[in-house]
Amino acid sequence: MEARTPVFATLGCRLNAHETEAMREMTAAAGITDAVIVNTCAVTGEAVRKARQEIRRLRRENPGATLIVTGCAAQTEPDTFAAMAEVDVVLGNAEKMRPETWTGLRTGLGTDGSERIRVDDIQSVRETASHIIDGFGTRHRAYVQVQNGCDHRCTFCIIPFGRGPSRSVPAGVVVDQIRRLVDRGYLEVVLTGVDLTSWGADLPGTPPLGDLVRRILRLVSDLPRLRISSIDSIEADPALMEAIATEPRLMPHLHLSLQHGDDLILKRMKRRHLRNDAIRFCQDARRLRPDIVFGADLIAGFPTETDAAFDNSLRLVADCGLTWLHVFPFSPRKGTPAARMPQLPGDVIRARAAALRAAGAAAAARYLDTQVGRTVEVLTEGPRTARTAQFAEVHFHTDQPEGTLLTVTPTGHDGTRLIA
Ligand code: SF4
Repeated sequence: MEARTPVFATLGCRLNAHETEAMREMTAAAGITDAVIVNTCAVTGEAVRKARQEIRRLRRENPGATLIVTGCAAQTEPDTFAAMAEVDVVLGNAEKMRPETWTGLRTGLGTDGSERIRVDDIQSVRETASHIIDGFGTRHRAYVQVQNGCDHRCTFCIIPFGRGPSRSVPAGVVVDQIRRLVDRGYLEVVLTGVDLTSWGADLPGTPPLGDLVRRILRLVSDLPRLRISSIDSIEADPALMEAIATEPRLMPHLHLSLQHGDDLILKRMKRRHLRNDAIRFCQDARRLRPDIVFGADLIAGFPTETDAAFDNSLRLVADCGLTWLHVFPFSPRKGTPAARMPQLPGDVIRARAAALRAAGAAAAARYLDTQVGRTVEVLTEGPRTARTAQFAEVHFHTDQPEGTLLTVTPTGHDGTRLIA
């Protein structure tokens, strides 16, 4: 029977998406075949449940393949996956990015019962895997890892235990990576990491993220679009604010890791900002770049959240002028301080998440109203879909060339997408 190239399943964040592309290239170089690789996420209990569900489905569809589980859920709870009959090997987040791991697996290491679990202590990892990728599964937007890990300890978050300490990819490596992607026709690059604004803190001279952004735009002058995936607004540096104000190729779209709108809850989350800091940041950024649009992560139902505290979160949508909301119903993660706090009833958490999502949907519709009839530049990402600079989705009635920058005038919207 003909050997088959590995099947990849990626759950979770853009960093995982980047790493899957790196694994795709390393497994090809190692000659790995007839394997299924599941790159998991651990950000919520639901994410881990989905990973197990995906593993069972892929095992049914690939009965003879070697099934390998990696990613943050494998890193934080390796025994959970090793206990699954469907699973052959469990790999940690550092191991998955090492070429020798895959050459080792090629020679059968781990599939003979030895070393089924290969998960090192992620807190001891100091280097970023500077694996330069040639491309991405899609032809339009490439996610480029510039940072990994996190030194913060927000009380609800499991990520530092899956990703280890914060570490930066040197600017020269990032620029080379982006140069390579642009030479292959990519028109948009998204800088991604776990705690992006801590980029540079571990590099000589501790350059801020803003320096990296300006350096990329200076040295890769033919890159049409640079996007930043998600930032902690309280840690935005002056160079980044200046780039937001002056660099048209830096997309006017920031996704903010806000998490909540009440000061007492923000303190209990061990966040580094307060409500007014978030509002002030959005006002400053909007003054510098009037067409900027904000997305934000918000958690609903954090332990001890009162009606009044939740209301402060709900009102933050308007007070910051948020448009694209990612709402997370609170999910206790074993081993985090928030999991040991008095929990709210599930129905309260779900109702508050629904209310936040409704506020988000209304904000998005109001924004889309303002875009109808305006001439905008979009990057097509499918025959009938594209994204504006502010990350609004655009749906076309007719097929368009993929991976192309077009100028269009939307004629309407359906509440979530512009129509052109
Ligand atoms: S900054 Fe906080 S929420 Fe973000 S990854 Fe670090 S610990 Fe988690």
